[in-house]
Amino acid sequence: MTTESPPAGGSTETSERVAMRTLNERRRRVVRSVVAVVAVMIAMVILSIMNRDAASIRSCEERMEYARDVLQSRLDKGQPDPTEMPVSGDASEVAIRLRNHVHFNAFYGEQKASATHVGVCCCRRPHSRLFRDGIRHVVVFDAERDRYELLRLTEADFARQAESLRLHVELGE
Ligand SMILES: [Zn+2]
Repeated sequence: MTTESPPAGGSTETSERVAMRTLNERRRRVVRSVVAVVAVMIAMVILSIMNRDAASIRSCEERMEYARDVLQSRLDKGQPDPTEMPVSGDASEVAIRLRNHVHFNAFYGEQKASATHVGVCCCRRPHSRLFRDGIRHVVVFDAERDRYELLRLTEADFARQAESLRLHVELGE
């Protein structure tokens, strides 16, 4: 009885095919891990930009709350309406940041006599947000209630109200 060994050529072809398949699988694995690493990196960059934007908006909001409270306490004490940020003489970090960041409507004291709502001050530029409309903080004087209010407006809402609030600042895109 004789045993026939498979032709030598066929064996080489099979092992080449196996080697090629292994190589392709390895390539696919490498591509998959590169794609996964890039996706994680992009997600991390997006998250860190969103966190940075949110932190900047939060700290501006705190400063504007402070400005609103200073304005309200001046009014409650019967002091005259200021023509510039009432904390501008102050060398504190809050005052410096407010001065650099905020547009102040020097004429609001006169305008509030003839308007129900008048803009006192607002962020000079909107705070940018990824994939969303920018945010602007606005301190408004409500003449009916004799109160200063802090509004948080999207840039689109701000653009609609800026004229009637008499806040003449450059609008963002
Ligand atoms: Zn701001």
